[in-house]
Amino acid sequence: MTHPGQLLKNEKLYAGKELGQNFLSNPATAKMIVKKTGISNRDRVLEIGSGLGALTIPLAQTAMHVTAIEKDSRLIPVLQQELDNENLRNVDIINKDILKINFSEIAHNKNRDENQDKKLVVIGNLPYNISSQILFRLVEQRGCIEKAFLMFQKELAKRIIASPGGRDYSRLSAVVQYAADISFVTDIGPSSFFPKPVVDSTVLKFKFFHTKDFDKTLEKTLFNVIKAAFSKRRKTLKNSMTGGEFEFKKEFIIHALELAGIDANRRAETLNVDEFKALTMAVKETEKLDT
Ligand code: SAH
Repeated sequence: MTHPGQLLKNEKLYAGKELGQNFLSNPATAKMIVKKTGISNRDRVLEIGSGLGALTIPLAQTAMHVTAIEKDSRLIPVLQQELDNENLRNVDIINKDILKINFSEIAHNKNRDENQDKKLVVIGNLPYNISSQILFRLVEQRGCIEKAFLMFQKELAKRIIASPGGRDYSRLSAVVQYAADISFVTDIGPSSFFPKPVVDSTVLKFKFFHTKDFDKTLEKTLFNVIKAAFSKRRKTLKNSMTGGEFEFKKEFIIHALELAGIDANRRAETLNVDEFKALTMAVKETEKLDT
C-alpha cells in the first residue's frame, strides 16, 4: 500500500472529518488485524469504508471475495488504482453510503453462481461519527452476516461490551448483547493512522446469533422497550418508559413490569438482556389485555 498522506497529496485531497477519515497508515497493523480475524479464502467479506485500501488489500489477498463500500467518491479511483497495483481482481467497489446498503442483496448476489447460502463476514475501521448507527443496522440485518470485526474509538468499544449496572451500559450495549457474542480483538494506538486520532481505537469481534423464540415482530418490540427504558436513563423505569416516542401509559408500564417481575423503581442501566426480553413478553401480554 501507498502511505495515505502521499496518496492524498498526489490527488490534492484532504482527509474529511465529517466522514471520520482516519486512514490506517501502517501496513503491518492492517495485516495484523486481518490475521487476527482468521478470515480465509472461503470467506466473502464486506468492508465498510474502504478508504484508500489499507485493509482492502490484505483482505483481498486473504479472502475469496471482497465487496468494498465507500461513500466518498473522490477516493474510488485511488482505491481502484491501489488494488490494480497489487494485481487484485476479487474486489467489487461500491460507491454508496453504508447506511443505505441492503446486506442480503449483496450476500445473495455473490452466492448466485454457487447455489449456496454463504453469510458475509463484515469488517471495517468505522467512521467514528456513525459507528453506533452502523452497528444497529448490522444487528437488524444479521440474518445474512456470520460475524463482524469492527474498529471503534476505545470509549465506544467499552460501552458496547459493558455489563449492566455501570455507567457505560447503554441502549447500544443491550441491543448488541441481545444479538451477538462480543469479544475483544486488539487495541490500536493513534500512531497507526493518518491523520492521527486523539484517542485509542479497539477492534471487537461480533458473532451474531438469533434467539429462537424472538421473531422479527417481537424483536422490534424488544428494541422499542430498550429504547424507551434508556430514553431518560436517570429516571426509574416506571417514569422513563412512560410517554415518550412510544406513548406508553403509566399504568400499562407498571403492569408490564410487575408481570415481568421487575421492580418499577429500578433504572434501565441495571437490566440485563434476559430481563429486557422478559419485559418485552410482558408488554405483549399487557397489550392483549388492553385491547
Ligand atoms: N478502511 C480505511 C478507511 C477508514 S476511515 C482504513 O482503515 O484506512 C473511514 C472510512 O469510511 C473513510 O474512507 C470514509 O470516507 C468512509 N465512510 C464514512 N462514512 C461512510 C458511509 N456512510 N458509508 C460508507 N463509507 C463511509
